[in-house]
Amino acid sequence: MKSPSRTLEVAGVEVSGDHWIGGRRVASAERFHDVSPIDESVLGTISRGTPAEADAAVQAAHDAFPTWAATPPAERARLLHRVADLVEERVEQLAIVETTDNGALLRSHLRGVMPRVAHNFRFFADYLVNDLHHPDFETRGHANHVSWDPSGPAVLITPWNAPLMLATWKVAPALAAGCTVVLKPAEWSPLTASLLADITAEAGLPAGVFNVVQGYGEDVGDALTGHPLVSRISFTGSVPTARLIARSAAANLTPCSFELGGKSPMIVFADSDLESAVAHAVEQYDNAGQVCLAGVRLLVEESIRDEFVERFVARAAGLRQGDPRDLTTDIGPNVSREHVERIDGFVQRAIADGARAVIGGGPNTDLGGLYYRPTLFVDAPAGSEILTQEVFGPVLTLQTFATEDEAVAMANGTEFGLAGVLFTGDPDRAERVGARLVAGTLWVNCFFVRDLRAPFGGSRHSGVGREGGTWSFDFYCDVKNTCTNQDRWTVDR
Ligand code: NAD
Repeated sequence: MKSPSRTLEVAGVEVSGDHWIGGRRVASAERFHDVSPIDESVLGTISRGTPAEADAAVQAAHDAFPTWAATPPAERARLLHRVADLVEERVEQLAIVETTDNGALLRSHLRGVMPRVAHNFRFFADYLVNDLHHPDFETRGHANHVSWDPSGPAVLITPWNAPLMLATWKVAPALAAGCTVVLKPAEWSPLTASLLADITAEAGLPAGVFNVVQGYGEDVGDALTGHPLVSRISFTGSVPTARLIARSAAANLTPCSFELGGKSPMIVFADSDLESAVAHAVEQYDNAGQVCLAGVRLLVEESIRDEFVERFVARAAGLRQGDPRDLTTDIGPNVSREHVERIDGFVQRAIADGARAVIGGGPNTDLGGLYYRPTLFVDAPAGSEILTQEVFGPVLTLQTFATEDEAVAMANGTEFGLAGVLFTGDPDRAERVGARLVAGTLWVNCFFVRDLRAPFGGSRHSGVGREGGTWSFDFYCDVKNTCTNQDRWTVDR
């Protein structure tokens, strides 16, 4: 016997806690608690998906695929713009729900994240219509034509650190490409995916084109990623989960795009604009350190080390930690008690290994258990865990280097290769050093500037493949070359 559908009320906004499959709400018999990291209050219960529900969602996406794929690009684009309109109308609701659910700053959701969610839809809608080039070329009287054919239902699996932003970065290009979608949001932050389902329905997307399965990866993961009807899997999350998905996808040789973890370096040469470098270094605490791209390893030229640390500590002291709904807060809580314990485990082991915390080093107990003090470690022994493993919390390390070779070796000295941040006043050095860094994205004298036309992804264990602009369409589509002998037509056009 299934329990009735349940709706949560979050900061005055009604959110369904159930799946969205084939254009209707579906409730699971079992439910799990959704907890707010702000104060660990229970917001309500969410359907805990089962393999049967995952299968139903894929089937719904499969059934809806032929019609959606055959829908003219201009019409798909129109519907995606309508989704963007509705997101823009509801920025405030989406922002407060996301903040309550995952603890990230309301200020960021209002000013940056939710507008960017709308932009994700507009960008890929426009790219489909205006920029997806179909190169035509001739070979000995034969015409070649390249087309991007939608591949089928795509399974999209996302983490909790930027739920709706990361989800729509996949949903928008998949739908624009003509794929149908099954979205599996993280169990820590299920709510905005559910609101997005309402928005897609209101925008007029046909039933089954967009589906949401809630629940735990361990329950529904294999059913989604090993499903023979699934044509693509795009996953953002951790390396261990990517390994499980790759194994499951291998059964059907389903192509996967993986956006995974990082331990990115931020290199600061003595010839940099130091004030700007320090400001960007402190920015690495954004989202309470839960940013995959963050340059968490500060690699600073020896000669400026003391001045850098002094300025960094002074600036970090100005960060306000507290309730993420307060628009003056700079650092909110981490996502869950479990995650804070994980962060603290890294910090305590780093101290045991001989690293010294210049600032921070534990939870901010004045604010309750989930607020972790921004921490900066120096003197961590080479090769130690804190210098090589992803913490995903407000924990940075600082090391020094004497030469460019040393900086490059340190920067490239982990299993990751997601991003790099490089500060120098010398353009030749930027080119020389930048060319040697292993990273999917390299920022020079800046941080976090993102253009959706750019390729995005990681090298080494930070990912497989690239998305963004053409790369997204390449991934979600079966790219086809049609070669035609044009001398054999028997019927005039
Ligand atoms: P996670 O791997 O634990 O979970 C991510 C998603 O995978 C969740 O929806 C989860 O339910 C699901 N999942 C878990 N087991 C599964 C399975 N067996 N099959 C299918 N799905 C399964 O990651 P997380 O802790 O939620 O997120 C943090 C990680 O994500 C960090 O490593 C971070 O660096 C990474 N991340 C990367 C990017 C990027 O763009 N490269 C962006 C944000 C976060």
